[in-house]
Amino acid sequence: MDKIPLVDLQSQYRSIESEIRAAIEPVLANCNFILGQNVKEFEKEFAGFCGAKHALGCANGTEALMLALRACDVGDGDEVIVPANTFIATAEAVSSTGGQVVFAEINPDTYNIDVSDFERRITPKTKAVIPVHLFGQTADMDPINEIAAKHGLRVIEDAAQAHGAEYKGRRAGNLGEVACFSFYPGKNLGAYGDSGAVVTNDPEIARRVGMLRNHGRAEKHDHEMEGLNSRMDEIQGAVLRVKLKHLAGWNEARRNKADLYNRLLGDADVVLPATNNDVRHVYHLYVIRTTKRNGLRTHLIDNGISAGIHYPIPLHLTKAYRHLNYSEGDFPISEGHARQILSLPMCPEITDEQVERVCSEIITFIKN
Ligand SMILES: *Cc1c(COP(=O)(O)O)cnc(C)c1O
Repeated sequence: MDKIPLVDLQSQYRSIESEIRAAIEPVLANCNFILGQNVKEFEKEFAGFCGAKHALGCANGTEALMLALRACDVGDGDEVIVPANTFIATAEAVSSTGGQVVFAEINPDTYNIDVSDFERRITPKTKAVIPVHLFGQTADMDPINEIAAKHGLRVIEDAAQAHGAEYKGRRAGNLGEVACFSFYPGKNLGAYGDSGAVVTNDPEIARRVGMLRNHGRAEKHDHEMEGLNSRMDEIQGAVLRVKLKHLAGWNEARRNKADLYNRLLGDADVVLPATNNDVRHVYHLYVIRTTKRNGLRTHLIDNGISAGIHYPIPLHLTKAYRHLNYSEGDFPISEGHARQILSLPMCPEITDEQVERVCSEIITFIKN
């Protein structure tokens, strides 16, 4: 019995191998490895893809968030609101820049930040909010932007799981003041190593991020501010330019596989992903919910099917954030969902037969 992985990067590589090799070869021959022509071209192309004016390549998605926070002057004790159910990087970026993490509850259906809970947690010290477009579905950005404007907060999108996702016809990356992307290999647009980008329409934020990522320098030896080293390398730039051309098609394939899952699991006693009408979901992950989660996961793994949990421990209950003194019961929806969510195999390359096998194992298990 063939195994079904959560994500199949190898079969994607086989489908673009010659393009990738042709793109990397000249980089090796030129030996210009950091922030060169490929990164420049990729930045233009990716900004265009997002419908935004500027994109700045950097070393990874976590630092994209740090660069955006610093470019927006958020740090030093400023409170930043982030959802309780997200990848830890969203919160780490806040503390790494000196900010104070404040968690908010998630919406029970979309898993994204709950708009009214976000508003309730605003204090005079709140400086920014980071809505995460979790699993490939954009957060409810209109009310978030409205509330933020009312309270003078900066809005930083965490779009690490949402390359190409749309909200009311506009793409992630163009829905707040500034947006942060990760190109970790398993993301919808993944490099062959670590890298990330900051995307914005604001020329001043773009200028500051462009300096911050490269030791705060405007020109060589002209350090206008203290920055860091968070540069994108040329091999990643070359790979990402090749892969960006395929992204829309790959996202479409993900949506088709999600439709197939929805159809085949329609009668099963599990909760399927809810999509808001304003949103075009790009299914970075296809996440179902069931009270029999642990048993189901074991059953799938026993049958050669990988299934993941994103994320098993809401951030406020992790050891890393113990010092913030949250306790069990503070975010009942995030906590309840953490016990029920299950990410099924999802990538553009998964075959209909594989989806059918996953679904028939789920139906068999749930019935018994
Ligand atoms: C992947 C991810 C990040 C961090 O990106 P890296 O490139 O791994 O640093 C941040 N936020 C979310 C929601 C992510 O999924």
